[in-house]
Amino acid sequence: MVEIYLLIAAYIGLTIWLTVEGQKRNIGATRSFLFNLLLTPIIGFILVFNSGRRISYLVKQYKCPRCSYEFTEEQEYCPLCIKDDKKVKLEEVQKEMT
Ligand SMILES: [Zn+2]
Repeated sequence: MVEIYLLIAAYIGLTIWLTVEGQKRNIGATRSFLFNLLLTPIIGFILVFNSGRRISYLVKQYKCPRCSYEFTEEQEYCPLCIKDDKKVKLEEVQKEMT
């Protein structure tokens, strides 16, 4: 009977590990978790490790609250709105790029 518990513990442990690993990859955490749970961690392992690594980085951008336009360079006022005689301060936003 002890083997059953070990098997369940290994199953859960592998599922958690592969979910964390899947989070860093294109497959994503949710899909990794479901594949491991439903198709066993053996299939899950193959699927997760065949999935490419996700390369993402945060980029600072400046968004205009009036026209919703995003700029990459820091400017005091939105250059598009200034043409309409509106001085709109840009908001700093963090954007995840992939
Ligand atoms: Zn604007």
